[in-house]
Parts: sequence; C-alpha cells; structure tokens
Amino acid sequence: MPLRIAIQKSGRLSEASLSLLRDCGIRIQRGKNALIAPATNFDLEVLYLRDDDIPQYVADGIADCGMLGQNGVAEKAVEVTTDRKLGFAGCRLSLAVPKAVDYPGVAYFRGKKIATSYPVILGEFLRKHKVDAEVHEISGSVEIAPNIGLADGICDIVSTGSTLFSNGLKEVERVMDSEAVLISQPGLSGAKRELLDRLLFRMAAVQQAQDAKYIVMNVPTEKVAAVQEILPGIKSPTVVPLADPGWKAVHSVVQEARFWEVIDQVRAAGAEGIVVLPIQKMVV
Ligand code: ATP
Ligand code: MG
Repeated sequence: MPLRIAIQKSGRLSEASLSLLRDCGIRIQRGKNALIAPATNFDLEVLYLRDDDIPQYVADGIADCGMLGQNGVAEKAVEVTTDRKLGFAGCRLSLAVPKAVDYPGVAYFRGKKIATSYPVILGEFLRKHKVDAEVHEISGSVEIAPNIGLADGICDIVSTGSTLFSNGLKEVERVMDSEAVLISQPGLSGAKRELLDRLLFRMAAVQQAQDAKYIVMNVPTEKVAAVQEILPGIKSPTVVPLADPGWKAVHSVVQEARFWEVIDQVRAAGAEGIVVLPIQKMVV
C-alpha cells in the first residue's frame, strides 16, 4: 500500500505543496482533474482535497498524512500528529477593528460581535482572555463584515495587512501564527511509517539546503538579548564583540520563509547594517 498524502486541490497551499514533493525528488503523474494521483518513483499517492477536509481525512486514516496550514489544523478538533513545519504559507490569524476605533485592549470585544471563519480558534482565544463576545461564523469575505454592519470586528488571516487596510480595518490582536505543516495519523506504523520517515527526511534536507540564509547584523549591546530571542538559528546565534564596546555583531541562520518577518522584527528590536549571505551546504 502506498503512503497516501492529502494536499489542497486548489488554493494558496497547492502549488507550494506540489513543489515541495517535487523538490523531494517525487514525480507525480496526474490526469486532468484527477482527485488521486500516484507517484511514479516513490511509493506514494496524492489525494487532492479542500484544505478544510484534510485533518478529518487524516484522523480517519483515509489519508495517512497531509499538508495544510496550522490554522486549519487548530480549527478542527481532531487528533492528528504534526510532524513537520514546512516553511511556506506563513500568515497569522488576527483580530481587526475599524481604523477609527480607539482600541483600549482586548476588553474592547466584550459584548461585541466578531465575524470569522475560525470560531474554534477565536473561541479559545476569547476564553483565555475572559472576553465574552458574540462570534459570528461566516465562510468567506470576512473583511467586509464591519463595513456592512454585520460585526464590530473580525478575526481573519493576515499576511501583509493590505486587505485589512483596503477595507478600512486595523489589526489589533494577534491570535495565532501559522505556516504549512505536515500532519499524520497518530500511531502510523510498519511500512507506512517507514515511507513517511523517508519523506520527512527528504523534506528536512530540502528545507535545510534551500531555505537557509546567513545573516549578520550590528546590534547595540543592550539590545542583543532582545534580538537573540527573535533569531531562530540552528543553535544559538554567534555574538561577536566589535571595536566599539557599545555594539556587537550577531550572526545567525534564518529560514527563507521567515526571512522578511525576522528582518522586520530584528530591525524593530534595534539591529542595523543587516547583511544577508547565501548558504551553499548545510550539514546539521
Ligand atoms: P479551500 O477551497 O481548499 O478550502 P481556502 O479558501 O480555505 O481553500 P486558501 O485561501 O487557499 O484557503 O488558504 C489556505 C491556507 O493558506 C490558509 O488556511 C492559510 O494557512 C494559508 N494562507 C491563506 N492566506 C494566506 C496569505 N495571504 N498568506 C500566506 N498564507 C495564507
Ligand atoms: Mg478552506
């Protein structure tokens, strides 16, 4: 029996999911509109689904594993194992309100109406913050809800923020960060487990080789700790003293997928003169 992997049929995750498989050396023969397609050189078949359906298919064992966003996994209360973060489809789930609102903090949402496609994740967030709000579930075009009087705020996926901006909204709370992950059925065993491990090994090699950049930056000494917190290096970042005792050079390895996010964060934390270098090989 081949390892069956579920990926999004069409949408933001499809292309990157397929190209990750391709970069793992796996060739897939897909007929037009086929919902299931075998690989020609690896004991694997691909099942094309809506991303919302993937966690349930994996939990039920219809698919052995699947690729989708962490937001999609968290929203479905099913039991699956997250084996690997895949480094693409980075985004966040955030609460947003009309720009004109003088936002006092999360208590703002008490008694308010919030539109979202993520009632489970939002519900958990609101409970954690002891905010009693009315959650209004809608499946698409969430960002127009405040403008048409349907809600006081929204909880939706944000990447650059431009959709919020063009709808007169501003992001006020970050509810969760998300990227694509590989999930599998808990307790997968035998030959399937071995196939999955081989696939995961290849994914690790692909991601390490392709996606890493070496970054070097100057940081005021008192801000090194804050910058270090942000940096997702292999181990801990290298911190080198400079001639000026007020500054240090911080070296680290950053995954391409998180690159701009990290750059934005370290700049905000005080880093300057950031230099980025390609990495040819990486043995970890
Ligand atoms: P489907 O028809 O399969 O249900 P969908 O409309 O639910 O598709 P997409 O818009 O294709 O979903 O998004 C799929 C996933 O991609 C999201 O759940 C999220 O993890 C990620 N994603 C969505 N928007 C962005 C974005 N702007 N930037 C990065 N990742 C995103
Ligand atoms: Mg969906």
